[in-house]
Amino acid sequence: MPPVLNPTQQRTLELLRRSPEPVVFDPEVIAGLCSGIAEAVEHFAERVAAASTDGLWMSKAKIASVLGCEYHHLHPAPFDWTPATAAGTVAHRAIELLVGWRGEPTPAVLVDEAIERLVTAPGTIGDWLAQMSEADRADLVNNAVDRIVKFTESFPPLTKRFIPVAESSVRYPESGPIVLAGKTDLTLGRAENGEARKVIIDLKTGGMWPQHLDDLRFYALLETMRIGIPPRKVAGFYLDAGRAVVEDVTIDTLRSAAHRTLDALGRAVELIEGREPTRQGQSSCRWCPHIGECATGQHWQAEQAERDD
Ligand code: SF4
Repeated sequence: MPPVLNPTQQRTLELLRRSPEPVVFDPEVIAGLCSGIAEAVEHFAERVAAASTDGLWMSKAKIASVLGCEYHHLHPAPFDWTPATAAGTVAHRAIELLVGWRGEPTPAVLVDEAIERLVTAPGTIGDWLAQMSEADRADLVNNAVDRIVKFTESFPPLTKRFIPVAESSVRYPESGPIVLAGKTDLTLGRAENGEARKVIIDLKTGGMWPQHLDDLRFYALLETMRIGIPPRKVAGFYLDAGRAVVEDVTIDTLRSAAHRTLDALGRAVELIEGREPTRQGQSSCRWCPHIGECATGQHWQAEQAERDD
């Protein structure tokens, strides 16, 4: 007997459901797009190899950062783990466990297990989790459980027929000094018989920003480079609002993602080669550690304050 869905789960299901008409991309057009990107990445890779031994790792965050303010991109604020910053990582790990778990685990069980596993994971979050105070743990668990509850209230039960995969890593190319990398929060479906069936979903807390759609298009592009068949949809799911913002993947959205990605790559390579970074006023000036000595950021803030008055 199928589960009875609440209205939000029903709406999510309808938004992500396949239409009766199969989505099939022209293989020649996709091959042309992929070979154009491959050629450009190869060119940039030669320049990176000549300028640095460190290589260049580009994630969705790095792409947004270099296209935002280059100075901030090169000199970011130091990052600290706190219950608020760790909650997303813990919740994503808990959702990954939920997808593969048999039965119906409670959110608290999933979060506890996620913390246990992350403590031993490589990287700084493990160190922070191992040493966090009891109060930080309480805040972290509460925040992460809140996300899991909202997730399970918003999505229909992810049975095997949805082919759900959480935290799937994608990278392009397979070797060389440049890596375009992504990790999707959740994917449903997979390409079959040349038909685009996969949906890529990013889970968000807080409100929607235009950059979120750019991030999803970047993931769609990586998926296309990986298997030669694009996903059929991308979706940002806003847990606090219980709403998904869904976009059909088209050749135009893929071209737009390719253009943005190569623009970011070009800028990042120029900076590695020694070009002086430019400064660009933007919303992150508000918490930028350089605001005290940055005339561009101060000017941008003054303009914003005038606009808000
Ligand atoms: S204050 Fe703004 S413009 Fe200045 S470096 Fe920071 S982000 Fe860039």
